[in-house]
Amino acid sequence: MKKVLAVALCLLMIGAICCVAGCGKKADDNVLTMGTNVAFPPYEYYEGGKPVGIDVEIAEKLAEKLGMTLKVEDIAFNAIVDGVKSGKYDIGMAGMTVRPDRLENVNFSNTYAKGVQVVIVKKDSAITSVDDLGAEGATYKIGVQTATTGDAYAQDDFGSDRVTGYNAGADAVEALKTGKVDCVIIDNEPAKAFVRANEGLKILETAYADEDYAIAVAKENTELLEKINKALKELTDDGTIAQIVAKYIPAEG
Ligand code: GLN
Repeated sequence: MKKVLAVALCLLMIGAICCVAGCGKKADDNVLTMGTNVAFPPYEYYEGGKPVGIDVEIAEKLAEKLGMTLKVEDIAFNAIVDGVKSGKYDIGMAGMTVRPDRLENVNFSNTYAKGVQVVIVKKDSAITSVDDLGAEGATYKIGVQTATTGDAYAQDDFGSDRVTGYNAGADAVEALKTGKVDCVIIDNEPAKAFVRANEGLKILETAYADEDYAIAVAKENTELLEKINKALKELTDDGTIAQIVAKYIPAEG
């Protein structure tokens, strides 16, 4: 009798363990993990200790359409592509520009936003246009966020000696304020946010480069990519994305 009880207990325990493991797996399957760098307003930034912004809200809607819950992981910008490639994160979404070198490692969804690289200078700066940066004999120092497109373009166009990389756009802006660099090259919407938040800065009227933002997905995860593209189309067609963008980027006028 004792033996029967012991066997029954054993079976029960095995069942319980399997259930926990099984349930855990299922829960994981329902989580959409987003690797991002929460320092890029208005796409992702903290408000009241919570990540918010255009990317975060679009990702929430995408997850909803996929019947999943969104989990936002705040990591270094230059760790996002590798993290998506290795499967640590399901998607990478960080105002991330589609670039040939990134496409070697991950796939990108259809574009959901446009970005423009712009130049921030002090209001009284001698730099008045992008051309001044490349003028013969120019030695202006340029601050960027490490591993961004602004970083890559600036190094290509003006030489790596003149470019200093910072962990976050806000750090590059701080370096501009204290005179460590003469300008900052960064995406236009974060640039506007930084100029609003810091006195004495302005954005040059001539833009530096136009780009497309998209969502990074692991190459082998074609099923997820298809689902995301379908959901993105639905969210575009029904005006959801435009609404989210308008909430964070009020029309200028
Ligand atoms: N759009 C730029 C890039 O992809 C910057 C993105 C960011 O800093 N979050 O490199």
